Amino acid sequence: MGRLDEQVAIVTGGARGIGAAVARLFAMEGAAVMVADVLDTEGAQLAAELGGPARYAHLDVSAEHGWQPVLAEAERELGPVSVLVNNAGILDWGTIEEQSLESFRRVIDVNLQGAWLGMRTAAPYLRRAGGGVIVNISSLAGLTGYAGIGAYVASKWALRGLTKTAALELAPDGTRVCSVHPGAVRTPMTADFDDSFTAAQPLPRFGEPEEVARMVLFIAADATYSTGTEFILDGGVTAGPPTALTPDH
Ligand code: NAD
Repeated sequence: MGRLDEQVAIVTGGARGIGAAVARLFAMEGAAVMVADVLDTEGAQLAAELGGPARYAHLDVSAEHGWQPVLAEAERELGPVSVLVNNAGILDWGTIEEQSLESFRRVIDVNLQGAWLGMRTAAPYLRRAGGGVIVNISSLAGLTGYAGIGAYVASKWALRGLTKTAALELAPDGTRVCSVHPGAVRTPMTADFDDSFTAAQPLPRFGEPEEVARMVLFIAADATYSTGTEFILDGGVTAGPPTALTPDH
């Protein structure tokens, strides 16, 4: 028996990285998974690999009219939709002084507007399913600031707040909404980061996509008394500064 038997899950940005790890684990636990992404070749390949009832749909999460057909196809082909993982995200660099408006807007459009559109479109489907779970992949950058990625930080803080509003609004439907806050995770998004990035952390290494997937599974399958809450996996970064206090300080 799987922990997600008879569940139908949509995973955005599911073609690679954290999303692909979530799609794989969900499928192993019995869910029918709709992988939604803009990377059509990788996404279709993954859906074929998952075995069992799984599909791939092209979806630019920032596009308002892309969502409804994906939800409708999932419901028609896989059954009542009960889980949405808003995982699709992009990172673009630039200090506040340097970043172009176009770049700022694109990050917000994908990371924030995309998740908002997803929740707005999925809510009635989850209601019809008798309630469900929405997991929004925010970031450690939704809990702290980072110099050089202001748009990303703004999008992830906003997604954390939006998660709480959604939790309040959808609780009467029996739908839970939580946010996940990973620190540095080894995926194509962080391919250019070297090991020095995590060296000062209490757990001095990158996280693996599968570690995030296990937390997402826990929220979807087991965390039945949690809604509007933040699930952090950050190698200990938010525990405190790396410097120890000594009597000399
Ligand atoms: P990734 O770049 O490997 O994967 C992101 C996926 O999202 C890709 O498949 C990409 O094609 C897809 N995507 C991008 N724009 C899209 C759009 N408009 N519509 C649909 N799909 C789109 O990155 P990842 O590291 O796996 O990131 C997944 C999520 O985790 C993101 O929201 C990211 O912000 C978050 N996150 C990542 C890290 C990390 O260190 N890797 C840390 C914290 C949070």
